[in-house]
Amino acid sequence: MNIAMIDDKIVDSNQLDRSYLDRGLYFGDGVYEVLRSYNGKIFALDDHLARFENSLAGVEIAGIDIGQVRSRVLKAFEAAKIPNAKIYFHITRGSGPRDHNPGLKMQPNFFLTISEIGDYSKSKINGYKVSTYPDLRWKKCQIKSLNLLPNVLAKMDASKKGCDEAILVDEAGLITEGSSSAFFAVFGGVIQTAPLTANVLPSITRKYVVKAARNIGIRFIDKSISAAQAKNADEIFLGVTTKDVIPAVKFDDAVIGDGKPGPITKKLIDEFIKFTK
Ligand code: PLP
Repeated sequence: MNIAMIDDKIVDSNQLDRSYLDRGLYFGDGVYEVLRSYNGKIFALDDHLARFENSLAGVEIAGIDIGQVRSRVLKAFEAAKIPNAKIYFHITRGSGPRDHNPGLKMQPNFFLTISEIGDYSKSKINGYKVSTYPDLRWKKCQIKSLNLLPNVLAKMDASKKGCDEAILVDEAGLITEGSSSAFFAVFGGVIQTAPLTANVLPSITRKYVVKAARNIGIRFIDKSISAAQAKNADEIFLGVTTKDVIPAVKFDDAVIGDGKPGPITKKLIDEFIKFTK
């Protein structure tokens, strides 16, 4: 009999729930999305679905009906009745005996959770502290893959240092992004962030930050920022779906600006929120 052991319990492998055999668990073999709603309205659903489709293609998970994914998201959101919700979903390549080569007949697994987004208004008022960490990830970070161990280690390091987010720095000393956020700095009134070619996730928040900056007449450039330059930024902020724009007031040992969220960041926060109404 082929067996499996779950903690102290020995079970017949044939009786195992298929979630134990999910390739997402064994290999991180899947892709995911996180989106949110503001006051009962899902924000940027099309953008998230388009990125999800790209992620699926990037890891060669074929045959997914994006229309069906959309319907599931909408159905679950309606069922949850949470006005300010975080919606997480993933698709893994499927379940089966552990083998790097998946074979051709995998049935992908879909999984979704919805939870309430907590109050993060204090982070916007006080600003985040961030610390740097080497970017140890693979070379396809445009794919929102379930392989997040380097991001987890980076976040744990930040947390040990009393920081809220880890900023990933590549081998050339350039910032790619946060462990779970896009990174922006302001120099002389111009917003700067790594280009989308720089092994970063095409953040949806970034897309709307660009629009917000345009609306309020602030220049925006795509150019990587070194960790050394970031210490001298006038302002730093992060972008992430669950919290949109979050100021950062400390970068490693450097205090950014006067140690309070900067004026451009504040304007962006106010402009961004208009997209969500
Ligand atoms: N970069 C990484 C590595 C992320 O994990 C995230 C979000 O979780 C982001 C950037 C921000 O992306 P988005 O604005 O689409 O939430």
